[in-house]
Amino acid sequence: MSACLFCKIAAGTIPSKIVYEDEDVLAFHDINPIAPVHFLIIPKRHIDSLAHATADDEALLGKLLALAPRLAAEQGLKNGFKTAINTGRGGGQEVFHLHIHVFGHPG
Ligand code: 5GP
Ligand code: ZN
Repeated sequence: MSACLFCKIAAGTIPSKIVYEDEDVLAFHDINPIAPVHFLIIPKRHIDSLAHATADDEALLGKLLALAPRLAAEQGLKNGFKTAINTGRGGGQEVFHLHIHVFGHPG
């Protein structure tokens, strides 16, 4: 069993408020939101950070990013949204399982 928090969330061992799920991806609400809508999109497969992604991950990265506008709209962010991928300690990353923050105010 992985010690990684987001691997546990992806496996359902730790509960989360799920926004979207398929075989490759999980999206769930951030436990400490910085905006009225704030969710995270993660690959189910563990990748430490964007800096650890390889050429083999290109399709998966594209899938994660392409989901952002669709899920943002479904969550009410009709007028736009912000995204962030914190990478490494210097980039403010606290959970070392790649994730895209999507956040904003419902329009
Ligand atoms: P980072 O700083 O690594 O980019 O962001 C990690 C994010 O994960 C933070 O916004 C934090 O609130 C969120 N987070 C940390 N632990 C949990 C948890 O157990 N559940 C959920 N849903 N979010 C979490
Ligand atoms: Zn992980």
